[in-house]
Amino acid sequence: MAVGNHRPTIETVDLGAIKWNVQQIRQAITPGKKIFAVVKADAYGLGAIPVAKAAKEAGVDGFCVAVLDEALELREQGMPEEFILVMGPTEPEDAALIADQSISVAVSSIEWLKEALAYLEGRKTKKPIRVHLATDTGMGRIGLRTVEEVQAFEGYIENQGDFIFEGIFTHFATADGEDPTQVDKQLAYFQELVGCLKKRPPIVHLANSAITLWHESFQTDAIRLGIAMYGYNPSDTVLDLPFALKPSVQLDTKISFVKQMHEGDTIAYGARYRAYEGEWIATLPIGYADGWRRDLRHQTVIVDGQRCPIRGVICMDQCMISLPKEYPIGTKATLLGKNGGIVNNPSEMAVEIDTIGYEILTGINQRVPRKYL
Ligand code: PLP
Repeated sequence: MAVGNHRPTIETVDLGAIKWNVQQIRQAITPGKKIFAVVKADAYGLGAIPVAKAAKEAGVDGFCVAVLDEALELREQGMPEEFILVMGPTEPEDAALIADQSISVAVSSIEWLKEALAYLEGRKTKKPIRVHLATDTGMGRIGLRTVEEVQAFEGYIENQGDFIFEGIFTHFATADGEDPTQVDKQLAYFQELVGCLKKRPPIVHLANSAITLWHESFQTDAIRLGIAMYGYNPSDTVLDLPFALKPSVQLDTKISFVKQMHEGDTIAYGARYRAYEGEWIATLPIGYADGWRRDLRHQTVIVDGQRCPIRGVICMDQCMISLPKEYPIGTKATLLGKNGGIVNNPSEMAVEIDTIGYEILTGINQRVPRKYL
C-alpha cells in the first residue's frame, strides 16, 4: 500500500507513553511475573517493530502475536532471541520453520502435534517446538476443554523429544465487565485443568490487560499485555482504571479546503446533510479507506481546542466538518488525541458507535504514515 507521505494526515505514536505504561504495570503486578507485550495486528495498528523495541527497552520479557508471520517479522527485525508466542492457530506444515525460529506456539490438539511431527523432518536445526497448550474455559474459541483431553495431551507430549511443553494458558471472555461471575468460573476451571497435570509447565498464563488491571492477584507466571500497554482502558468506559495510563496515539490532519455555505447546500454522498446559512465547512484529507470509519460520522474532530461535528457521510479519502468560524487551510485538526485541552479518546468514541477502542486503533491503516515520539 502506498503510504500517504505527501498528505498531512499523520498518526503519532508516543513510545515514551508505551514505556511508561509498561513501567506502571510492572509496579502493579506481583514481582517476578513476566510481562509479554501483545504486539499482534502490527501492535494494534501502531507499528510492531518500533513498539516491540520500546516495550523491550521498558523491560518486557517477551512478545505475543496472533499470526506466525507476525512472529517472523519480529525475529527478522530485531528480536532474534526473545520469547515470542503465537497465540492463534498455526499450520502443522510450518512446524520446521517454527522450530528453527524458536517460536512458541499455541496448540489445541494432539492431532496438531502428530501432523507437525511429519513436517519437522525438514528442520535445519534439531530444535524442538515450544508448545503452549491452549485451554478453552469459556471463551469458546480455541483450546482443549476437559481434564481427560488435557491429561491425554500431556501423556502424548511428555514422550516426544520434538516438543517442549513450555506453557499452558487460557483467555477470559468477560474480564472487562462489571460482573465477576464468569471470570471466577473460568479461573476455577483453568485451575482444575492445570491441576490435573502431572507436571506444571514452566509458563502458566491467563491474564490479558483486563485481568491484569482488575484481577492481578491470580497466581500465574506471566501476563499478556495488550491494550493497557498502549494506554487505553480495556473496558472502554465500563470500569475505572485502577491507576493512570498514558494514551499513546495522536491522529492529526490539516484542513485542506474551507468554504462558507448557503442554507440547504448539501454535503457528501447522499446529500444527507444540509448546511445552515453561513456555515463554515472544512474538508479533511482522511476517510474510511484510512480507517476513519463511516460510522464515526456523528463524532467530532477537534480544531483549535473546539469540537467540530462531522457533516455528511465520511467519504473514502476525505470528510467534512463544521467550523465555528473561518479557519485557514492548513489549520490542525485532531481526530484522536489532544488538541487545546480537549481529547478524543478512541475508547470513548467506540462506545458511541457500538464497537471497542481496539477496533478504532487497529482500523487506522498503513496509508496513514506513523511518526514516533
Ligand atoms: N491474550 C489473548 C489470547 C488475546 O487474544 C489478546 C488480545 O485480543 C490478548 C491476550 C491481549 O488483550 P488486551 O489487549 O486486552 O490486553
